[in-house]
Order: sequence, then structure tokens, then C-alpha cells
Amino acid sequence: MRTKAEKSKQIRNALAASVAALLCATVAALIAKLCFKVGAYVVFIAFAISFAVVLAVLILLWKKTDLLRKILYLLHCVKNPKGSRKYFCPCCNRDFSSFSDLKLYEDTERYDPARFRKQRQDVICPFCYSAPRQRILACWAEANVSLLKNSKILYFAPEYSMMKWFRRNNIKLTTADLFDPKTDLKLDITDIDLPDGSYDMVICNHVLEHVSDYGKALTEIGRILKPGGKLIISFPIDPSLDTVLEKPAEIPEERVRLFGQNDHVRVFGRDSAELIGSYGFSVNVIDAGKMPGNILPVTGPADYDSDQIFYCGKTSK
Ligand SMILES: [Zn+2]
Repeated sequence: MRTKAEKSKQIRNALAASVAALLCATVAALIAKLCFKVGAYVVFIAFAISFAVVLAVLILLWKKTDLLRKILYLLHCVKNPKGSRKYFCPCCNRDFSSFSDLKLYEDTERYDPARFRKQRQDVICPFCYSAPRQRILACWAEANVSLLKNSKILYFAPEYSMMKWFRRNNIKLTTADLFDPKTDLKLDITDIDLPDGSYDMVICNHVLEHVSDYGKALTEIGRILKPGGKLIISFPIDPSLDTVLEKPAEIPEERVRLFGQNDHVRVFGRDSAELIGSYGFSVNVIDAGKMPGNILPVTGPADYDSDQIFYCGKTSK
């Protein structure tokens, strides 16, 4: 689900593309009028065709090549010379003078603003929108490239920022989601339509707080992993809770109040490692404390956006 900030950015991009196309079409119409001395009908055709072609090309370029983001990043680099760009995003491999505050706490329909008061908010990469946990994972991945290259990986609900890292490092993987039509496979994580022992590694970040039965999901992940297979998993953790909090909440406002976000159906607690372990995994935490300071390894932006990423090994057969 897109945030309000992402939606307004898309609207701004669409407006900018329309203005650019309008300018190009006007120039084309003027050229047609002045140089070729054609009639109003032909001028209008030239205007309409130019507008449509320029708009289509811009949308294609922006969607496929991050053109607008690259232009904005270039301007950022001109304004902020190398020495002043002290923050680094390992997901998109770019450095910045600061990370961004997406003001998620202003979207009160989707988020509980009370959960955004204890953390720094300027923690989102302005280029690829990585949060601290994704930059922590990218740093871990940098140190484990050969393991990743030699593993058959299934990535549930692939994150844009991490996919940038995987593509840059030429690591092949299969993506899956129940709703996202852009992924390779349409899979229900609580009833995965794949044979036992199909994959060496499953990556599953911020999925379990959305699904109907997290236990079924963990059981299914264990089933499709090969013996000794690896699971990288993270989800919102409320450090004030002993254990997972889940209860029926049909109304979105109720889910915002209980779990912090209108499409979450639970929030996990301090016993998360033991809980994963009870489904047949050995559990290690990827240590955010060992990551470089310039990736800003703090939790956030929400209180439940833990920097704990669990690196698990399948122990059961
Ligand atoms: Zn980034």
C-alpha cells in the first residue's frame, strides 16, 4: 500500500511530465506553424502527437530508469559536494547530506502517530526509500555475497530498495507475493504452492504482521526450505510487549490503535526469536551494532520498526 507521501510524489511527477510534454508540444506546433506555414488543423495534429509521444517517452523513462530520481540526485550532489554527503545508502549505493523524513506520522488514517514519537524520523533514503532495517540487511548482504550467489532464493514481498541491491550485485532470485502482479510468482505464504525443499533461502520482511496465521506461514516456509536452508525475516516488534499481540479487529481505526497500522493484524513482542525458533529454526540476530554509522543504524521511523533482522537456519527435516 502506498503512503500519502508516495502518492503526492507520484502526482507531482505526473504534473511535471505533463508540463514538460506540453512545452515540447507547443514548440513542435510553433515549428510546424512558422517553418512549414501549415494550417491550424495540421498545427493541432502536430501539437497532439508531440504531446502524446513526449509524455509516453517520459513516463516510460521515469518508470524504467528512475530518470527523475537520478536528475534530483545529480542536483543534490551539485548542491552538496562529496565531503558533505556523510550518509550512505548501501541499497542504492548513493551518499547524501541527510536522509529524509517522509512524515508518515501525518498519515493518521494509516498510522498511529503516537508510535512515531520516540524515534528519529529523518531515516528514509531519498532515492530508494530504504529504512534503517533495509540498509542493515544490505550491509549484511555485502558481507555474504557468495552465500547469496550460490543460493536458490525466494523473496516474499520484495522491497524496492533491496531489489536494487540484488540487481546491482547480479544475484538471481524469485520474487513472490499474493497481491503484487509484478512479482514472479503469486503465492499465499500461509499455503505455499511449491514442493517441499524447493529453496535454499527465503527472505520475508514485514509480511507476518499482515497475514491471517503467522504460524502457518512459518511452517510453510520451513517446509519449502531445503534441509539446513536459511530464512531471513523481520517484522514490527513492540519492545514493551512480552509476546505477540493479536486479536480480532475488523475496523481499520482499531487496527491502527492496537497494532500501529491499518493493515496490520498483530504486533510481535520481545520473545520473537524464541517464537520463530519454536517452528523449527535456529535463530540469530543480524547485529545492527556492527554496521557502519553512516547508514544510520537506528530503529525507526516507527517505534515498532525494530532493527532486529533474524537470520535463521532450518533445523527440522
Ligand atoms: Zn537508497
